[in-house]
Amino acid sequence: MIPFIDLKAQYRAYKNEIDKAISEVIDSSSFIGGRALNDFEENLAKYVNVKHAIGASSGTSALLLALMALGIKKGDEVIVPSFTFIATAEMVSLIGATPVFADISLDDYNICVDSIKHLITPKTKAIIAVSIFGQMPDLFALAKFCKDKHIFLIEDGAQSFGAEANGVKSCSICDISTTSFFPSKPLGAYGDGGAIFTNDDNLANLIRIYLNHGQIERYKHKFIGINGRLDSLQAAILGVKLKYLDSEIKMRNEIAKIYDENLPKSCIPRVKSGFKSAYAQYSIRVKNRASVIDYLNKCGIPTAIHYPLGLHAQEAFSDLARVSLKNTEILTNEILSLPMSAFLAQNHQREIISVLNKIIEG
Ligand SMILES: *Cc1c(COP(=O)(O)O)cnc(C)c1O
Repeated sequence: MIPFIDLKAQYRAYKNEIDKAISEVIDSSSFIGGRALNDFEENLAKYVNVKHAIGASSGTSALLLALMALGIKKGDEVIVPSFTFIATAEMVSLIGATPVFADISLDDYNICVDSIKHLITPKTKAIIAVSIFGQMPDLFALAKFCKDKHIFLIEDGAQSFGAEANGVKSCSICDISTTSFFPSKPLGAYGDGGAIFTNDDNLANLIRIYLNHGQIERYKHKFIGINGRLDSLQAAILGVKLKYLDSEIKMRNEIAKIYDENLPKSCIPRVKSGFKSAYAQYSIRVKNRASVIDYLNKCGIPTAIHYPLGLHAQEAFSDLARVSLKNTEILTNEILSLPMSAFLAQNHQREIISVLNKIIEG
């Protein structure tokens, strides 16, 4: 079986450095906080070009902390795309606010100003824009729209760490941005992890308090918070991988280009001019998805569906008013993710393309 994401090849490439970073943390016995975490947060902030980067225990807790810091609460509405992983909307519900599901554009599979305009109400407090599959939405246009409406903009950059728009990095544009270091994301840990980014000193300070049980001094708790910390072993591993992220994203873009050039034009993903995708996924649109999956699987080629159902149609959100979202419904029926990683072997990719071209109906 061809690996969907080749994490073993990646480990082999950096093994000496990663093993050394791990044993340094173990030798130091600083498992929570300490130098490994401080260094990593500093390097993250520099990489993204924001004032504050704060490690978190996962992309999910990063989203929760962002909403807490912005004071989102019961009765508030937060606009989120329906075409995303559940965590984006789940954390809105978890803090008691109401997710309002927006449709997406079929150009980049992201929300855009046109898809959210009609959803704004006096209760709208924020928009969470997801950078799906590794490509940012037009966050500049969304940021301007939110500023005019006096609402917050959060980027869920779980899939887009390292991506760019006009040379500006993902996770640097919005009031608060979050990312995930789940192992299969563009920058993946060896377990769970995430981070939160902001240029606002106040928000950064609040996030650091909330992620440590609302504690302002040892055992003095000003707020109800959570344990949302990134642990030092993960920070040390991520610190090594961060150094290679740009070169890996370059490799992913080269692999994407080969898919682009060898698959039917009607099914390949589009990247907006001036944008660089981190290609967390390389996802195509196919009309005969079930038979494509079946045939590829028989040929030893794994695939994945991101995502088979819009969040607006999930049972977990059945208490919300039902909406119909045309583009999301089209895409959830056609989308199919192909093997993608910086270490996808050339001969494997050739085989995937050749098998696909025998069965695909774009
Ligand atoms: C992966 C992902 C998350 C959640 O990240 P975890 O680290 O798994 O908690 C949130 N949003 C999106 C869009 C994701 O892809």
